[in-house]
Amino acid sequence: MKYVRYRYQSRESYGILDGETVREIRGGLFGDRRETGNLIPAGSIRLLWPCEPSKILAIAWNYKSHLADRPVPQNPEIFFVPPSALLGPAGTILIPADARTVDYEGELVAVIGKETRRVSAEEANDCIFGFTCGNDVSERNWQKNDRQWWRAKGSDTFAPLGPAIVTGFDWRKGRIETRLNGSVVQSGHFTELLFDPPTIVSFASRYATLLPGDVIYTGTPGETGQLRPGDAVEVEIPGIGVLRNTVAASS
Ligand code: MG
Repeated sequence: MKYVRYRYQSRESYGILDGETVREIRGGLFGDRRETGNLIPAGSIRLLWPCEPSKILAIAWNYKSHLADRPVPQNPEIFFVPPSALLGPAGTILIPADARTVDYEGELVAVIGKETRRVSAEEANDCIFGFTCGNDVSERNWQKNDRQWWRAKGSDTFAPLGPAIVTGFDWRKGRIETRLNGSVVQSGHFTELLFDPPTIVSFASRYATLLPGDVIYTGTPGETGQLRPGDAVEVEIPGIGVLRNTVAASS
């Protein structure tokens, strides 16, 4: 199933994307959801980020190809991103006026489906509702020089997410590709993850209770590169979809 959140005729709803049609649902994604019977042409909706997390976790240095000469971490290296940084599919990444180097980071994102506290990696599988695409947009100068990454990773629009949450997605067979203005700039297979999604969920849940709708950006493969005003950046995970965003200078 492909779940989306969207605006249609000035109302926000969740729905199931079914080819060219969206089947409206009520009751949210994680509780008592039911279909209303309303069918909406997919071309007439505006997609929003696909869930509303209470918190966003993200993993640093989770692919060997991204580590360069850093040592392999002993545990998942987790940081927080504020939900105010979220950006929907087709939204515009805004580069703050005093930012110098803002990079893309295409990532697989896990979406939590139920209250998750102190679970094992085996139990964590059942706590993951589905997966979507994310771009962990990062200002490298702030990332290097600030004590915390709150603005390097958490400035407004720095967390594009979507287009859909896919359930039953087998990440073990999945791969990711990032394109900048149509050229492939990153690619990786999820078998290359140093800490896989259930392991990350299990580790995080030892300390922080994860809630339905919380999301975890699982890290980026290989090298990253700079975004500039006028660019278009796409993160594609076959089986999930394409997260496409444009870039502009913040006014
Ligand atoms: Mg990242």
